[in-house]
Amino acid sequence: MLTVDGLETFYGASQALFSVTLEVREGEVVTLLGRNGMGKTTTVHSITGIVPARSGRIEFEGQQIEKARSFRIGQAGIALVPEGRQVFPNLTVRENLVATAANRHGRADPWTVTRILDMFPPLADRFDAMGSLLSGGEQQMLAIGRALMTNPKLLILDEATEGLAPLVRQEIWRCLERLKVDGQSILVIDKNIADLARVADRHYIIEKGTIVWAGTTRELQSDPELLAERIGV
Ligand code: ATP
Repeated sequence: MLTVDGLETFYGASQALFSVTLEVREGEVVTLLGRNGMGKTTTVHSITGIVPARSGRIEFEGQQIEKARSFRIGQAGIALVPEGRQVFPNLTVRENLVATAANRHGRADPWTVTRILDMFPPLADRFDAMGSLLSGGEQQMLAIGRALMTNPKLLILDEATEGLAPLVRQEIWRCLERLKVDGQSILVIDKNIADLARVADRHYIIEKGTIVWAGTTRELQSDPELLAERIGV
């Protein structure tokens, strides 16, 4: 579904990504792991066109997208749940959800506001509240709901549960497990390896802008030294 090959991204003269190569297949949940500042956000920002790639190839469902504008990449079927949520602060929960609603690829059972509220019941109680008044957990649920309302083929989450209370984190992981059962393809960044291992099929570790390891959940779990050395857990 998504193939990233030899991706190089710069901020001005400073190179952040060095030949990043990774793949997400249809129906897979894949993680991008690494310490702070290693290039995880830059990688997903390059995939989504927020920080353009200097060179390399990004192919999504057979289309070259490395030169495409962000909104085109969104229309092609990639949705990002950004780090820090970035819900629309002066729109209500309902408005945040309907603002992005689209079913461009004619999904038979498209996401609706009702289905999002069923996935995240706390949002129902806050339906008419402004985005800015929500708790961090509610904002993250809304950010995921907003992304799902675009009926994405690939959902990308940057720091899925960072800064959230343990109970809310569990709610987010439950949501990702449900999405996986439904066949949703997901690329997720998070630091919580134990929870990621429950839901993910494969993992990539990025260090100083380069993918230094790729493998399955079983391979990752069987190598505690790798986790300690590369991710610091
Ligand atoms: P974190 O989890 O802390 O967000 P990360 O793995 O997502 O870390 P990136 O944010 O992708 O890492 O950063 C990769 C490198 O690019 C770092 O050296 C960072 O300082 C640099 N960088 C990130 N954003 C910018 C920017 N807007 N301008 C210049 N350099 C940047």
